[in-house]
Amino acid sequence: MKSKIWLSSPHMGGHEMEFIKDAFNTNWIAPLGPNVSGFENDLKNYLIKKVEVAAVSSGTAALHLALILLQVGPEDEVICQSKTFSASANPIVYQGASPVFVDSERKTWNICPELLETTIQDRIKKGKKPKAIIAVHLYGMPYQTEKIKNIGKQYNIPVIEDSAEALGSAVNKEKCGTFGDLAILSFNGNKIITTSGGGALICNTITQKEKAVFLSTQAKDQDVAYVHSQIGYNYRMSNIIAGIGRGQMLTLDNHVTKRRNNYKYYKEQLNTIPQIEFLNEPEGYFSNRWLTCILLENQADKEAIRILLDSNNIETRPLWKPMHQQPVFKNAPSYINGVSDDLFNRGLCLPSGSNLDKSDLDKVITLIQQYFG
Ligand SMILES: *Cc1c(COP(=O)(O)O)cnc(C)c1O
Repeated sequence: MKSKIWLSSPHMGGHEMEFIKDAFNTNWIAPLGPNVSGFENDLKNYLIKKVEVAAVSSGTAALHLALILLQVGPEDEVICQSKTFSASANPIVYQGASPVFVDSERKTWNICPELLETTIQDRIKKGKKPKAIIAVHLYGMPYQTEKIKNIGKQYNIPVIEDSAEALGSAVNKEKCGTFGDLAILSFNGNKIITTSGGGALICNTITQKEKAVFLSTQAKDQDVAYVHSQIGYNYRMSNIIAGIGRGQMLTLDNHVTKRRNNYKYYKEQLNTIPQIEFLNEPEGYFSNRWLTCILLENQADKEAIRILLDSNNIETRPLWKPMHQQPVFKNAPSYINGVSDDLFNRGLCLPSGSNLDKSDLDKVITLIQQYFG
């Protein structure tokens, strides 16, 4: 059997071990050390805009910390893009708060600005102003950053930018991860760069960063006496893991180029099939094309192609099942326009790793072409 073609698998650049060895040689085998601050600085420099970065154990932990920093608690509602991975929404529940889901728009597949505004107005009318908005750059395609930011400002609701899938993406040359009042990144195994598992909280002030680090290292008021006046978490990134991150930062731009080239090649080869649609970048948008997604004409084609590729040892995945369709969130208020359901029914993510070669992509393309023969 030929080796499997994965959706998105880890891709080391070659320098990761040097940073890990350095951690061993200096015995920084701990959730602090030079690689942690080094990785944070690398990210800061990469994001260009003046931000503060706290490296943590996962993107989910970063989202949880963001909600804590915004003082989201049990009586609160938090608006969340419905079309996303469940990790965007789960931390709302960790805080005892309630998610309110908002559907997507066609232009970016992300949270619909008009529907977001309607939702805020309706929640206020029903007696509660939402405490925060979680917007997601799905598959690396930025949401409408300007519009969402303005809505947040207008209603005085902070925006948490879930940039877990969008490191390397930008709008008008401004990098994703710098648009929210707070933002998060993920370095999970399948993301554009990986540390095996890890994440980062991106803050606008050093005070926020220090608070996040404090909370993620067990909230010790005084290190010596172990005095605690609030609940802490063990969320800090380890110095070993951060070493992988430092190595990955050296190859991030290369990963973005490779993934964008995957998209370009798929599109060139499959665009002539009328039953297949791609998501274009709106003017000024730059997607890292974390995953190349196609929309089929109908659900039956999508499912047939998924099964066909699977039987050829090729991994694909339907687009994220919207949160308003998840059993665990069945009682959450949702503002739905049909877009995310339609994308879920007809959409398929194709193998998109930066470590795929042309022959891998050709295998996928040929099978799809034969299907529509
Ligand atoms: C991966 C992901 C997360 C969670 O990140 P982890 O590092 O896996 O905890 C959150 N949101 C989105 C949209 C993701 O894709």
